[in-house]
Amino acid sequence: MAGAPVRRTRFAPSPTGLLHLGHAYAALVAQHSADPGQFLLRIEDIDRDRCRPEYEAAIYADLAWLGLTWQQPVMRQSDRMAAYRDALARLAPLTYPCRCRRGDIRAALSAPQEGALPAGPDGLVYPGTCRVRRLSDAEPGDVIRLDAARAFDALGRDHVAFRDQAILPGQNHALFRDQFLNGIGDVILSRRGMGTSYHLAVVVDDAAQDITVVTRGKDLFDATWVHVLLQRLLDLPTPLYHHHRLIRDDAGKRLAKRDDGRAIRHYRDDGATPQDIRRLIGF
Ligand code: GLU
Repeated sequence: MAGAPVRRTRFAPSPTGLLHLGHAYAALVAQHSADPGQFLLRIEDIDRDRCRPEYEAAIYADLAWLGLTWQQPVMRQSDRMAAYRDALARLAPLTYPCRCRRGDIRAALSAPQEGALPAGPDGLVYPGTCRVRRLSDAEPGDVIRLDAARAFDALGRDHVAFRDQAILPGQNHALFRDQFLNGIGDVILSRRGMGTSYHLAVVVDDAAQDITVVTRGKDLFDATWVHVLLQRLLDLPTPLYHHHRLIRDDAGKRLAKRDDGRAIRHYRDDGATPQDIRRLIGF
């Protein structure tokens, strides 16, 4: 008889700063959710302008200090460009080049409406200005976007769905086509000068690493709709998700890399133990 499926998780930090208490919590949740020996680390370093080798070295050192161990070798997204290119080529019929800058998008959205502009996981919902353009007409400096309406049509589905072991466990979370088009829209699959985007890289890599449980902060819940759509389009399995709580500062604000004062490194330098860190984040 087949046993329960292997629970394989990953912690996927970007080396753009020192890890803070929120990262410690995310890494511990990921390891805790994995079967023995099935916890992986992935360095998300596609943004070459912001990533630094010293931050990558600090990630390894701080995680080891916290008592975490992970499978070797560590996957680094900067080594995976060929895989992202392949995935982008497979999605080509559903994509288009876009030259709009943030200001263009804001202006196009402001014209027909007053009040708050529609925003999704990547910020403003793209109004579709460049949707008529063809990939063959792409110009240097363009980004590549997914035509979400054509994607749903190609799949012949009216929704995307996933399960979350932390939020309403055992039930499907579903988002309908129109909700996707109005609230998320045509996301970027290849950023200017990057050859990929967070969404595309994470989907390709979670599948390549056979991740069966994706653990990450609740702030990424809405990005998961994009990932599930991409999984369907690329014929990749949808893992189980676990969107966990966020660690906040005393004012209730989510910690960010720029909140250097909360860096694990600084607590270490002040003589804190790994147990102190766990206590601080309630793990
Ligand atoms: N690299 C992402 C971050 O640092 C995490 C991505 C994910 O877990 O899907 O926020």
